[in-house]
Amino acid sequence: MQPTASHFVNGAYLEDTAGTPMPVIFPATGAEIARVHAATPAVVEAALASARSAQVEWAALMGVERGRILRRAADIIRERNRELSELETLDTGKPIQETLVADATSAADALEYFGGIAASLGGEHMQLGGDWAYTMRVPLGVCVGIGAWNYPTQIAAWKGAPALACGNTMVFKPSEQTPLCALKVAEILVEAGAPAGVYNVIQGAGEVGRALVEDPRTAKVSLTGSAGTGKKVYAAAAAQMKHATMELGGKSPLIIFDDADLESAVSGAINANFYASGQVCSNGTRVFVQSGIKDAFLTRLTERTAQAIIGDPRDEATNFGPMVSEDQLAITCSYIEKGLSEGARLIHGGKRLDRPGCYIEPTIFADVTDDMTIAREEIFGPVMCVLDFETENDVVSRANATDLGLSGAVFTADLTRAHRVVHAIDAGSLWINQYNLTPVEVPFGGMKGSGIGRENSRTAVEHYSQLKTVYVGMSPVEAAF
Ligand code: NDP
Repeated sequence: MQPTASHFVNGAYLEDTAGTPMPVIFPATGAEIARVHAATPAVVEAALASARSAQVEWAALMGVERGRILRRAADIIRERNRELSELETLDTGKPIQETLVADATSAADALEYFGGIAASLGGEHMQLGGDWAYTMRVPLGVCVGIGAWNYPTQIAAWKGAPALACGNTMVFKPSEQTPLCALKVAEILVEAGAPAGVYNVIQGAGEVGRALVEDPRTAKVSLTGSAGTGKKVYAAAAAQMKHATMELGGKSPLIIFDDADLESAVSGAINANFYASGQVCSNGTRVFVQSGIKDAFLTRLTERTAQAIIGDPRDEATNFGPMVSEDQLAITCSYIEKGLSEGARLIHGGKRLDRPGCYIEPTIFADVTDDMTIAREEIFGPVMCVLDFETENDVVSRANATDLGLSGAVFTADLTRAHRVVHAIDAGSLWINQYNLTPVEVPFGGMKGSGIGRENSRTAVEHYSQLKTVYVGMSPVEAAF
């Protein structure tokens, strides 16, 4: 089941033990389940060279042929969903209950969707009197994908599928925390018929990512990561005028009005804070609750959170697993301490569990105010902040008082207000009476400091291709002299 080497380059697994060893830890036990090696300069070179040499031939295929390979890969992923989900659970610690429905399956959706539109990519014709012009949609070349550790399979495919559909090739670097699953995506693409070099995966920390971004052969970089890393990678791409997509962090508002359906609003808040142990970029971590529903909301929220089944993520009954690493757990604990010291009221959880592995209780703070650190900074752990509000105008301006703008939601029975509020929120992805559903058919990405560009949907095609315009003169050319 596990990948057989650290890297996947030019259509095959590749090992170079000269690279820094990177132990892969199962977060539920702390056990080392695999060991990979960071890419040496020779591996980086091999990956970029193979992506470069495969690109022209790949782009020359008919779109329908590229699409067929992607759709075949989607079918293989679905057939092996159980095996891939188990690997994702080992890599990330996320409950198998989640990985079975949200990881390999969403990678398959992306491959199927972009496989389906590969044949219909094209330009336009413009009639200009007797002359005319047309546009061609052409690939960018070699694209670099860099992933975060929370959705390793999904991120590998959300970047790879549109890139390959458009005739690009890719070198993907997973997070050093979760190196295994992207290798399986590469292996399956080759099994589905992708030519060698079309999709390569190499391991390493930030410096490997930096080497890929800075290489002149790289035409585009797509990063999923923190806002801080995004600024560095975007600047490095800009220095060589490269295309860039930045999917970064958030501190998103989830606004619950008095007239909201109580159980749906509580479900929304749970999904927006505790799924994947809170390690989701689009999470609604600032839960604004109108005063009339506050008591009932907090009562049901704590009752239902107490029912979370915290346990071994390999057990299908578990619905709340460990965090990805000791480091991320420590960051989360330090934010909980800040919440307490700044006066937020802890109403549930707050403690590391007394068992092996990176376990922390789902944690809820009430009476959080806008100035508190936990209301301002992305925690990326299972810490929900509940803030009070009275009026729509007040909550909209407070919701927007952040440098980030990835997502947001409103729960209300008043549809006019729902649309008015989501129109006023500065964020890329908004939900009405729902949270965190991100099907491949809809664009996903952030405003403000949460990023640039969009993943998924037809829009992603514009981020993995460019237009070439051809003007066709049909008459003799006249000149002034
Ligand atoms: P990081 O920003 O720490 O890392 C993201 C990736 O970038 C990693 O693979 C990392 O390598 C790599 N990297 C770090 N420095 C550089 C550099 N200078 N040049 C090139 N690559 C570099 O994020 P995390 O992995 O900690 O992920 C959590 C963050 O990701 C959160 O902020 C979260 O909100 C965001 N995120 C955003 C999503 C979105 O779609 N908007 C989805 C999921 C997460 P390594 O870590 O291996 O050293």
